[in-house]
Order: sequence, then structure tokens, then C-alpha cells
Amino acid sequence: MKILQDKVAIVTGAGSGIGRSVALAYAREGAKVIVSDTDEDSGRDTVRLIAEEGGDSFFVKCDVSSPEENESLVWAAIDHYGALHIACNNAGIGGAMAPTGMYPVEAWNKVIAVNLSGVFYGVRYQIPAMLNSGGGVIVNMASILGSVGFANSPAYVAAKHGLLGLTKNIALEYGEKGIRANAVGPAFIKTPLLKYLDEQTMQWLVSRHPVGRMGEPEEVAELVLWLSSPKASFVTGAYYPVDGGYLAQ
Ligand code: NAP
Repeated sequence: MKILQDKVAIVTGAGSGIGRSVALAYAREGAKVIVSDTDEDSGRDTVRLIAEEGGDSFFVKCDVSSPEENESLVWAAIDHYGALHIACNNAGIGGAMAPTGMYPVEAWNKVIAVNLSGVFYGVRYQIPAMLNSGGGVIVNMASILGSVGFANSPAYVAAKHGLLGLTKNIALEYGEKGIRANAVGPAFIKTPLLKYLDEQTMQWLVSRHPVGRMGEPEEVAELVLWLSSPKASFVTGAYYPVDGGYLAQ
């Protein structure tokens, strides 16, 4: 028996990087996956990859910074599969880089809208659906920058710190009602999110990881999969780095 057999799971930002790896990992373990992204082509590619491995999924376009689109996403899961058991709120953006005293207000609003409000809008509609489905599991994609600062990324750092607080609150409010919620903190992972960084910055970032390399999206997906499964049945309200030792320094 697969560990997520017949569970219904939403993954946001599942057209690329970590989200795609999580969607594939969920499907391999028997979950029915709603693959969601703003980018329709890449989302449909993830659905195709899941189908090639014999998995069950479909695509729903959703910009997580829209409360209405989050609500529709949850309804799509209920209409199609009849329940919602798991949500990996993964969609996120890097945003502009500048010191706090010069940070563009528009860039701040955009990062907070996607990386923090986007997760609140998600759980706002996922939680009632999970309660109606007999319980569920939420995994919010934070970052190592949910627990330490990173110069010139004030909006990203603030949003990811905020996610840890939101995750704790869900755990307190819904633990007895059968919903677990945890946050994951990847260090730097080789995904298109880092495509704007020059070679020198990439080398410097590599050197910040005691293991001497960046992570792979699949290494984050392994942790998300475990947190989403019954193997983590006593784990809630927590923050799990997956960081090649970054936070040990
Ligand atoms: P990625 O490869 O860029 O994938 C993110 C996906 O989310 C993309 O398909 C992106 O579409 C989509 N997306 C962007 N804005 C969205 C929105 N408003 N609504 C729905 N989908 C949206 O990035 P990733 O590295 O896998 O990042 C996934 C998550 O991990 C993010 O929350 C990120 O903050 C977090 N994380 C990443 C790293 C890292 O080093 N890679 C480290 C720590 C945490 P477009 O490509 O069209 O924008």
C-alpha cells in the first residue's frame, strides 16, 4: 500500500522546481494531485509527467495572490475528487533585491501578496474543505529565510518568517480537529527561481552550504512527502529546515 493511497492533494506552483517535484512525489505514493500554477503550459507538463508514471492528476490555473482563485482551486478538488486531504502551499517568488531603506513599495506588496497572503488565502479555503473530508495535512513552503535574515531581500524574509507564525496558528486551532500543519525551510535549491543570479553569486551561495553544494528539488520533496504522510502523525506546528547545514553556522 502506498503511503498516500487515494488521498487528494493540492500543490501550488507545481509547474516548476520544488512544486513539480512534490506533485510527482505525491502521485508516486498514490495521491490524486491537483497541479496548480499561474503558468498553464508548465502546469500541464507536470500533469503529463505524472501520467507517464501512471499517476492521477489534473491542472487548475490559480494565481495564489487571488482569494477567489484559491477558493475555486479548492472547489475544483472537491468537484473532481470529492475531498481534500493534503495541501502543499508552495508557490512563491523571489522578488526585487534592495536594502530595506530603498526597497520599492510595489515590490514589497507583490512579494507579500504571493508569498504570505497567497498562503493565507490558500489555507483559508483548504481548512474548511479538509474538515469536511475528515481531516488533513498542510505543508507551507517557507525557507531558511523564514528563520534568518538575508541582506537585500526584506520582503521575502518577512513573508517567509510570517509563514512560520501562520503555520503555528493553524496547528493550535485545528490540531484536535485532525488537521496538522508544518512549514519547510529549504536552503538554496537548484530551480528556475535562482535563474537571475550571476555565476559569482551562485558560487558564493554554494560556499554558504556546509555540504558544499545547493540542494535538489527532489530532496525537498522527500521531506514534504514525509510530513504529508501518516508517518508524521505526531508532527504539527513545526518548522523543518532542509538546508545542507546552512542554519548550523
Ligand atoms: P520556481 O521554480 O520558480 O517555481 C515556482 C512556481 O510558482 C513557478 O511555476 C511560478 O510560475 C509559480 N508561481 C509564481 N507566482 C505564482 C502565483 N502568484 N501563483 C501561483 N503560482 C505562482 O521556484 P522554486 O524554487 O521551486 O520555489 C518554490 C517555493 O520554494 C517558493 O515558495 C520559494 O520561495 C521556496 N523556496 C525556494 C528556494 C530555492 O532556492 N529555489 C529556497 C527556499 C524556498 P512562473 O515561473 O510563471 O513565475
